[in-house]
Amino acid sequence: MNHFELQGGELWCEGVPLVRIAEAVGTPVYVYSSATLERHFTVLRDALTGAGLKDPLIAFAVKANSNVAVLRTLARLGAGADVVSEGEIRRALAAGVPPERIVFSGVGKTDQEIAFAVETGVAEINVESEPELHAVNRVAQSLGKRATVAIRVNPDVEAGGHAKISTGKAENKFGVSFSEAERLYANASNMAGVRPAGVACHIGSQITDLAPMEAAFAKMRGLVERLKAEGLPVERLDLGGGLGVPYFNQPEPPGPDAYAAMIGRVTRGLDVQLAFEPGRMIAANAGVLIARVNHVHERPEGRKFLVLDAAMNDLLRPAMYDAYHDIRPVKPRAGEPVVYDVVGPVCETGDTFTRDRALPPMQAGDLIAFMSAGAYGAAMASEYNSRLLVPEVLVKGDDYAVVRPRPTYQDMLDRERLPDWL
Ligand SMILES: *Cc1c(COP(=O)(O)O)cnc(C)c1O
Repeated sequence: MNHFELQGGELWCEGVPLVRIAEAVGTPVYVYSSATLERHFTVLRDALTGAGLKDPLIAFAVKANSNVAVLRTLARLGAGADVVSEGEIRRALAAGVPPERIVFSGVGKTDQEIAFAVETGVAEINVESEPELHAVNRVAQSLGKRATVAIRVNPDVEAGGHAKISTGKAENKFGVSFSEAERLYANASNMAGVRPAGVACHIGSQITDLAPMEAAFAKMRGLVERLKAEGLPVERLDLGGGLGVPYFNQPEPPGPDAYAAMIGRVTRGLDVQLAFEPGRMIAANAGVLIARVNHVHERPEGRKFLVLDAAMNDLLRPAMYDAYHDIRPVKPRAGEPVVYDVVGPVCETGDTFTRDRALPPMQAGDLIAFMSAGAYGAAMASEYNSRLLVPEVLVKGDDYAVVRPRPTYQDMLDRERLPDWL
């Protein structure tokens, strides 16, 4: 459920008509709904606690939506943060996420990033390889500290979803095998600079079938039991994120209740704190990208193009993952649906949001909304083609705020330097 609905023939976000935001802030613009973010977080937490999990750590995956106002909205409800860079740690801290709720994931942490995480005192550094374990040990010792780590395991399951977002197969770059995890965990318990506190996995994104997750989590449970049997303390089991959301052209993915029930079943009686790293399921349907139709361009051979003022640099998912986004006119016109190719102005054929999409008839100047754009939308935006970085707006009830303004062209140019020999 989300809070983007038609009222009086036009699309609103909570108590604000999207037309009002588009006019005041300009387009393209991302618009997020506080109530939807809060609802998705609360529904997940209630489902997990309802399934009997005590005090789960729900660390929102910052890479899905890294806007500080979005992070603070979630942090105020008790969310932690799953981060993959020093920049994301700094964003989480700026949003008020306490260090003890920050989980640091990622395959290529630099010494500088590790040092920053150790000094910050994050809840756990998820170690993805043996060299990384040694790096954390070395860096923490040089700081006179002991870093809490979890070993990230690659459970070697096929989780479906797009190849570019599948992470849980042995061929992927993420994590270590189960046997390696046992060896590393035992080694880590003898290192002065680290304290192994748990194990972690994350098998992919936009997963719409619980079976591969259940298979992976059952294997993780086995690992925890083996470690404990060896006398190694395990405090936390981090099950990652990855639950899919409905993008409208797909079967409805399992909801939080089914997900939580499965987890309750798989982890029953295991005396560890569970951690989760959801991104998409919290943020995707809490945001839209509003764009304006620049031209309706009809080719002699019959194709009709809606040329928007938004492009692949603003919303990369269709170009990168062939992702489907529902497209809704902000003020739908009456009339028979028309089949359009919806494209942006960037000089790449890949700058095509969709082909052959039946939409209500559109005219130049009309506004459209890309639905389910709150995750991996603005966070992946760039200035490709020297287009200004897309702004972001957060709605709360009848109110809204620009939470990342559109930069000016001068801002863009001011970031660069001409060497004195030119
Ligand atoms: C991307 C990522 C997530 C979030 O994935 P979603 O599909 O958005 O839930 C969680 N954990 C790790 C380690 C990730 O890389």
